[in-house]
Amino acid sequence: MPETVGNFVSGEWTDSETGETFAVENPADPDDVVARFQQSNAADTERAIEAAAEATDEWAATPAPERGRILNTAAQQLESKKDELTETLVREEGKARPEASGEVQRAIDIFYYYAEKARDLGGDVKASSGSGTTLYTVGEPLGVAGLITPWNYPIAIPAWKLAPALVTGNTVVLKPASLAPTVAKELVEALDDAGLPDGVLNFVTGPGSEVGTAICTHEAVDAVSFTGSGQVGDVVYEQAAEDQKRVQLEMGGKNPTVVSESADVEEAAEIVGSGAFDVTGQACTATSRAIVHESVYDEFVDELVAYAEALSIGPGLEDNDMGPQVSASELDDTMTYIDVGKDEGASLETGGDALESGEYEDGYFVEPTVFSDVSSEMRIAQEEIFGPVVAVIPVSDFEESVAVANDTQYGLSASIVTQDLTEANRFVDEVEAGVVKVNEKTTGLELNVPFGGMKASSSETYREQGDAGLDFYTTTKTVYYNY
Ligand code: NAD
Repeated sequence: MPETVGNFVSGEWTDSETGETFAVENPADPDDVVARFQQSNAADTERAIEAAAEATDEWAATPAPERGRILNTAAQQLESKKDELTETLVREEGKARPEASGEVQRAIDIFYYYAEKARDLGGDVKASSGSGTTLYTVGEPLGVAGLITPWNYPIAIPAWKLAPALVTGNTVVLKPASLAPTVAKELVEALDDAGLPDGVLNFVTGPGSEVGTAICTHEAVDAVSFTGSGQVGDVVYEQAAEDQKRVQLEMGGKNPTVVSESADVEEAAEIVGSGAFDVTGQACTATSRAIVHESVYDEFVDELVAYAEALSIGPGLEDNDMGPQVSASELDDTMTYIDVGKDEGASLETGGDALESGEYEDGYFVEPTVFSDVSSEMRIAQEEIFGPVVAVIPVSDFEESVAVANDTQYGLSASIVTQDLTEANRFVDEVEAGVVKVNEKTTGLELNVPFGGMKASSSETYREQGDAGLDFYTTTKTVYYNY
């Protein structure tokens, strides 16, 4: 029997008042139920918010190094369970084992990183123009932070919101995505075991329309950090901004890699292939457009097709390169976009089919798919697909490649493969993206530098990770002290 997980409110695991639960299924084998979770409603969420509000004073008064010590202890517990967490993550989200293991390690590293940051929190002392005045700033917590997270990085994203929120002295209500809440629950358990006081962290599962809306609209919530789709992000922003909560949104992408005429084509195909097909293309930073100079275009397409066709597809727990999509609905969306690409006149170079027979019968598997002869106005070059599909767009010079790279509503991550320093520098300057890479893939982030997008990829209010991650959860008091 799979475990039934409660909501975590005021330090207790409790059932929803709805009496209903939902199942979390393995996308490689949906009969395998990983766990059941509470189908909570707005009233359950309000209780969690009130518990968080009650705990704010005590937690804000706890010395920051002590808050850091709790994070550090939780990180040690997570580290000791790394293999188990990796397996759970693969079972509920589907990614390949090495990808899941890397993500779990990222969550652990994030906890350690912000635990260390605790001792450096505080403020600055500045020169005053008044005699006898000490002029300084103090960082203070905002109060209650509502964290709403997606399914695609179900342990790393909750970790990169939770750790800075908690270490800066905020209390939290965390609402994970319903497709993959189990590893987020493990973060909660680790923090509870590490000695987090009751009420400081609360965890509520259920539909976004109930739980998410309650978080965004409750007056006791001071800040909302959301990662997910643009569609939901718009709703979150509107609701949360109504009573002037601090809001941070990180959303979709249509991330380009430009392949210049000076590129090493084989290396470029590996960079694009890995960026497009790792984690089954279900990364906000996944490469979904390759913008390729016409002089290397044919060779590049051949290399990329060879890369895609060499990937083994199958359950993430077995030794495969690419796992399933997370759900039937995500697979349907991908198949719809593959039909759109064909109808728009793009050339299907490889892939294009869902895998439904034999060993693939039960899961949500799809072939890695490459379209060539794509033009920038096509929907497959404009809309986020969130599956293993890449559109290859030919261009005739550098200026056109940058214009095409910028020709979408999104601006999350962008890269260029080139051996030409002028092109590389111009690309860094001219591309509209929050993350820019030279001779690297669009995916993959370091935890100690800011992460976020431009244009429709982000609210552009605050970045996440690194020191920027702390800023979002901190308000500043400026003190003029003349004694
Ligand atoms: P989603 O928008 O469907 O859901 C995200 C979260 O919002 C979930 O917890 C969901 O339950 C909740 N939610 C749904 N309706 C809500 C409402 N009305 N009010 C409040 N909360 C609500 O996204 P998803 O399908 O879980 O994730 C995939 C999307 O996330 C993709 O678009 C991807 O690009 C994006 N993403 C962005 C980043 C980034 O950092 N930019 C990282 C990962 C994923």
